[in-house]
Amino acid sequence: MAEIQLRSISKRWGSFVGVHKFDLTIADREFLVLLGPSGCGKTTTMRMIAGLEDVTDGEIAIDGRVVNDLEPKDRDVAMVFQSYALYPNMNVYENIRFPLKVRGVDTSTHEEKVQRAARMVELTDFLHRKPAELSGGQRQRVALARAIVREPNVFLMDEPLSNLDAKLRVSTRAQIKNLSHELAVTTIYVTHDQIEAMTLADRVVVMKQGRVQQVGSPTEIYDNPANTFVASFIGSPAMNLIDGDMAAGRFTAPSTDIGGLDVPDGPVTLGFRAEDATLAADGAGDITAPIYTLELLGDATMITVRIADALVSVKADKNFRAEIGTPVGISVPPEICHLFDRQSGERLG
Ligand code: ATP
Repeated sequence: MAEIQLRSISKRWGSFVGVHKFDLTIADREFLVLLGPSGCGKTTTMRMIAGLEDVTDGEIAIDGRVVNDLEPKDRDVAMVFQSYALYPNMNVYENIRFPLKVRGVDTSTHEEKVQRAARMVELTDFLHRKPAELSGGQRQRVALARAIVREPNVFLMDEPLSNLDAKLRVSTRAQIKNLSHELAVTTIYVTHDQIEAMTLADRVVVMKQGRVQQVGSPTEIYDNPANTFVASFIGSPAMNLIDGDMAAGRFTAPSTDIGGLDVPDGPVTLGFRAEDATLAADGAGDITAPIYTLELLGDATMITVRIADALVSVKADKNFRAEIGTPVGISVPPEICHLFDRQSGERLG
């Protein structure tokens, strides 16, 4: 069991606020992802939970017990970092066994525990190798196994895939997902990669400048972003966002006129996703503009037009072809539209 409560935790260095009043209960066995751009406070939050960083204000409780003053080694958490500091002179077996030795775990259990952890990350055939004789992905799996062997209550993972190439990242990501399911351990995972967040998380916390922007399941965050920051951070491509004005149920902006919206008059930012909109067959859409770029994605063709300062994309059929500069119409039915306050960026309605 490991439920983690972050009770309004903050971290300040002098007047600089690294994390501001982070308040959240992480359920036992939940896979929680902290997501946000560089410097938003993800790692600091994680380090506070691990005990590697003091909390300036607030409390951290693990299973109801406040751990603010507990040493990292007494918190029963295991961390996996992006740089997987393996001992170069030890082989894989010894590297994985190391935490058991340090903790004085009964030596008669070591063999079984190391073999089990190695099996889980598919390293059984590599136990005699030194780290220098492994690929980056294999080294990362040794680091994972070294965390697994401790049988902690909580896993903390800080960008564990960021040193791997794109292909390896996808396969290791799948492995982590599978592992977390198998181990059924509360996991907090830090990343700036929204695809990693969406694929791994039970819940995602989106952060910006030390503040939580939204907490929700990947679907909730994707379907109902709380503000324009979240909308522009989640999804590939990011949600189209157009600044304009509402009047009598119509949204207007350069080259854009979308009706049927139930929002009060005033300045707004309208958003919709490329995959929700369609190219208008007759060229007469709610948005009409010349093609700015056309990208072949294999399963679709991405058409992008430019509206004032905004680039707006729509996914068209994979066989769609046209010259750059050709005028196209984009159909944007009201039901796919997200509306945000233009000033604050907060979601309306
Ligand atoms: P990244 O993805 O780049 O690792 P992050 O979201 O994990 O970013 P943090 O490492 O948590 O960000 O840092 C949050 C902010 O706190 C940053 O602006 C950082 O410069 C600042 N910061 C971190 N450690 C310290 C420190 N010891 N003293 C002062 N400021 C710090």
